[in-house]
Amino acid sequence: MADTFKVMDPATGELVQEVKYDSEEDINRALERGHKAFKKWSQVDAHERSRLLKKWSQKIQENKQDIAKVMTRENGKPLHESLGEVDYATDYIDWYAEEAKRIYGRTIPANTESKRIIITRQPVGLVAAITPWNFPAAMMTRKAAPALAAGCTFVVKPAVETPLTTIRFIELAHEAGIPEDVVQCVNQRGSVAGEIFTGSKFVRKITFTGSTPVGKSLIKDSADTIKHVTMELGGHAPLIVAKDADIDFAVQQTIASKFRNAGQTCVCANRIIVQEDIVDTFSKKLAEEVAKLKVGNGLEEGTNIGPIINKKGYDKIVKQIKDAIDKGAEALVGNKYEADEDKGCYFVYPTVLKNVDDSMMIMHEETFGPVAPIIGFQNIKEAVAIANNTPFGLAAYFFTNDYRTGTYLTENLDYGIIGWNDGGPSAAHAPFGGMKESGLGREGGLEGIEPYLETKYLSIGNL
Ligand code: NAD
Repeated sequence: MADTFKVMDPATGELVQEVKYDSEEDINRALERGHKAFKKWSQVDAHERSRLLKKWSQKIQENKQDIAKVMTRENGKPLHESLGEVDYATDYIDWYAEEAKRIYGRTIPANTESKRIIITRQPVGLVAAITPWNFPAAMMTRKAAPALAAGCTFVVKPAVETPLTTIRFIELAHEAGIPEDVVQCVNQRGSVAGEIFTGSKFVRKITFTGSTPVGKSLIKDSADTIKHVTMELGGHAPLIVAKDADIDFAVQQTIASKFRNAGQTCVCANRIIVQEDIVDTFSKKLAEEVAKLKVGNGLEEGTNIGPIINKKGYDKIVKQIKDAIDKGAEALVGNKYEADEDKGCYFVYPTVLKNVDDSMMIMHEETFGPVAPIIGFQNIKEAVAIANNTPFGLAAYFFTNDYRTGTYLTENLDYGIIGWNDGGPSAAHAPFGGMKESGLGREGGLEGIEPYLETKYLSIGNL
């Protein structure tokens, strides 16, 4: 196998940088170093860990412009989105810098005078993380920040498409004073790193963001050594628009949810489910607004939709569009794509499909691209049935100003994240994560530090 891999710009096909693969020995050494550093790091007082995390966040902010350009070059997303992701990524560090100081225990009244019961929390140990290409900064910091805050040590393997942002973040952590063995980055293909991480006696926790099949195999492989696991996996988000909704607002929020990162996010609205009374008006307005989105190189001013990350992603999106059109869907805008196979550049123009039905592939598979399929419904029960008809359960959105409809939808949608009149609910201070095959555990908020902590129960007797 080659010693290096090439990070390519998906908008131009140019080489951005060549990165060295870490060998199996390198990775095992990194894990051993992380394990050895754990004792000392876990004993650093919480206020000092907090101070170091704040310094890290500050260093990232000082380098924000350069980092964002690198992110756009390796991932393709528009520069303003990369700048937004740097802020979103540092939000996690800032939030967990504070939470480091709030890892509380508790006491429990005993059932006899001669006993005292005390509960303490302690870090789980070395954490190994595997992150995806679609949010190369934020998917890493929302694992690293709570891990370090809790007193764990941390090794991350970023996606081979987008390692540069992560490499830079880890360098800045070291510059901020976080010891080198406490937070490390290794570069390798996913399957190789996954096998080493899950097989290592030094790793106590695996945290993964990526596709559901890979998540399932990591859970299985973690079973032999009973490692803790957190899994942020695929989604297939429904977005329901009820007849009483503010249509213009729903259109604007649908665009924000659907077309960010060219539709390559796990919480992207993937099925637009609209009440029949307003489906024509909504579809027309959505298509008009989507037609204004500019496709191109994310570094160019005014670009809204960058390239698709690779051929595999592109082929899947095009296949879903063609399947829908073959089965009777109508493209109101888009249905246009460009591939330059020699350069490795793939663009899909933002597409709105009307008259979509359940027989179409797009209703059953995550698209991970800029396609908004619209399906009609008669009553709210029917909307819920369509929305829940999937093994996924990450994010769901609905638009209504009727509190009964909203309450019913909140209680009946089997999703971990619900946006009620809100197309962008993700935030560092709230628990992000899915039900069913979308994952295990939560990241962000109070809940996001829990997976990095063990509970220790002390019973003092004979008093
Ligand atoms: P992917 O699962 O192929 O890759 C994600 C990471 O896993 C990469 O670092 C990759 O190198 C690594 N990997 C690949 N094969 C592996 C293996 N056999 N063992 C261990 N690691 C392996 O997914 P992707 O294409 O990078 O990302 C798209 C998917 O990720 C989508 O399904 C999306 O929904 C999901 N995703 C989920 C969230 C979330 O928070 N729930 C966020 C972003 C993306």
